[in-house]
Amino acid sequence: MIYDALELSLNDWQILFSEWGEQKFRASQVCQWIYAKKEFTYDGMTNLSKSLREKLGSNVAMGFPVMIRQQVSKDGTRKFLWQLNDGARIESVLLNHGGHKTACISSQAGCPLKCSFCETGANGFKRNLTRGEIVGQFLMMEKINGSDINNVVFMGMGEPLLNEDNVLSVIRSFNDKNMRNLGARHITISTSGIAPGIEDLADFEIPIRLSLSLHAPNDELRSRLMPVNKQYPLQRVVEALKRYRERTGERITIEYALIDRVNDSPECAYETAALLDGLEPYINLIPFNPIPSRPELKRSEQSRIKAFCEALSAMKIEYELRKERGSDIMAACGQLAGSH
Ligand code: SAH
Ligand code: SF4
Repeated sequence: MIYDALELSLNDWQILFSEWGEQKFRASQVCQWIYAKKEFTYDGMTNLSKSLREKLGSNVAMGFPVMIRQQVSKDGTRKFLWQLNDGARIESVLLNHGGHKTACISSQAGCPLKCSFCETGANGFKRNLTRGEIVGQFLMMEKINGSDINNVVFMGMGEPLLNEDNVLSVIRSFNDKNMRNLGARHITISTSGIAPGIEDLADFEIPIRLSLSLHAPNDELRSRLMPVNKQYPLQRVVEALKRYRERTGERITIEYALIDRVNDSPECAYETAALLDGLEPYINLIPFNPIPSRPELKRSEQSRIKAFCEALSAMKIEYELRKERGSDIMAACGQLAGSH
């Protein structure tokens, strides 16, 4: 085999087909079979000639992540463990919010950033995922689900903006009318604060949604919790967010996991409001999900959560207190490790 179907963008397919003397629209037909109709065999692509199907069969491999395990949580969240060609294992999660389905996919096998509260970070970093490995998680989940999944979030394993070229290539394919045709507002990148990547998103042609994992409102505390903050301190990140906000007009979501007596004081809430002044952020307060590697970190007590929320309200910051999903199967935020 010379090529791998999921590694090819629409443009790559068009170039390949023109080299083969095929018409350009054939490229869109193949992509619609794979991305929209979930037809993963060339034999099933019935509007292509037999000879083209045979040529595809002997030149373009149809490689997908292999499902090793599927777990279902009490709340309906499903977690998938996939094995990749080199044996690396990654996870994806399918969330169900009252009929709305969201696929949470991984961009790296592991994560190099080692945030102190995150199980993915604690388990080390193997490598970036290829374009095909990222897209393959989503397509396999849709195929298994039996119907379309209309939201996708890059909130699984890894830091998407450290694998930017592949992630942006995947987003183009999700969004392209000739491929998956998923709306820009149904695609979200979550980042730990890779400032140059955020700046690129400000200029990206598809206005996707952006989430920042903040978790601490000052450099001293944030650098302790998230070492990446030493490379891109808060002022730099906030500048990049402002630029994204100005260029796209989109509101940014801020993720903040409340860890007992670490980052959950009312002072932290006031500092957060001051830091984000002018950004009109929307804050998602995530219940901290305990992880095996850091047993000393606990979820905040109810009274502390309440005080934190009251401080945000006093500062007129909009927030939502999220419910945890899938923690009984280690599928909640920060719990993906690729092996549990
Ligand atoms: N690397 C990116 C994408 C992963 S998204 C990022 O960090 O944004 C995973 C989300 O879960 C992030 O918001 C992350 O900060 C959060 N998270 C990590 N560990 C967590 C934990 N133990 N409890 C709650 N949230 C956690
Ligand atoms: Fe990596 Fe995000 Fe986990 Fe930090 S929170 S270690 S950036 S996956």
